[in-house]
Amino acid sequence: MLRVLFPGGLKKAFTLSYDDGCYDDIRLIGIMSSLNIKGTFNISSGLFRPEGTEPQGPWPRLTLSESECYKREGIEVAVHGITHRDFTKITEPELVYEISADRANLEKMFGGVVRGSAYPYGTFNDLAVEILRHSGIKYCRTVWSDDSLAMPRDWLRLRPTAHHNDPKLAEITEKFLTETPREPRMLYIWGHTPEFNRDQKWGMIEDLLSKAANRSDVWYATNIEICEYDLASKSLEYSLDGHVVYNPTAKEIWLESFRGEVLTVKPGETKEV
Ligand SMILES: [Zn+2]
Repeated sequence: MLRVLFPGGLKKAFTLSYDDGCYDDIRLIGIMSSLNIKGTFNISSGLFRPEGTEPQGPWPRLTLSESECYKREGIEVAVHGITHRDFTKITEPELVYEISADRANLEKMFGGVVRGSAYPYGTFNDLAVEILRHSGIKYCRTVWSDDSLAMPRDWLRLRPTAHHNDPKLAEITEKFLTETPREPRMLYIWGHTPEFNRDQKWGMIEDLLSKAANRSDVWYATNIEICEYDLASKSLEYSLDGHVVYNPTAKEIWLESFRGEVLTVKPGETKEV
């Protein structure tokens, strides 16, 4: 079997996922942009702070005009329930509304096609997964961090590697950056930006991101970029002897051949490998 690689023939991907649409996202996005790090912000678009008010309290959200901060290269906006209700504690029509109204709002505000999500409170059930799927959502992040760098098996029940407060995060990051993996690996960190104020962790995240940034062997990407690349690579079709591959997708896919050579299969291409 051929081994799938990330774009550029890389074996490591790095991404962030931050929730709620908080005022301090502005500061994190500034740090990310200066380091060329990409990531995803999961936004409850019905809960913006009223225009003209100051960001107050421990968990201030953005105003609509401040949410311009997400209109940057390398930043993905994703669904987080329009009013952040627990997906397991509402009726089916309410669930449909929470997901699709948030998606529609975000598309109107930021353009593009919104296909990502994170579960409010991290809670979900099979019905929520089904409704997300029917709403055109390709992945949804849980809060079940498992300290793993393995690629996700179920994108609609996506397990992040670690919350930024995970005591093992420094060790995991070191391992991710220094080891040469056989299989593709992803370091996926999540959290909420007000936690950096509450826990006085801005220095920690800046140090961690500086260390992880600008490496030639890491693919820096948003959640949806990694998800859709992974899904596209799983759509490749192989001849019965495994020596011919057909790429029916719109993405160029990078592979490592039986002989250890790095090759690419372009959209629509059939190739001997
Ligand atoms: Zn949330």
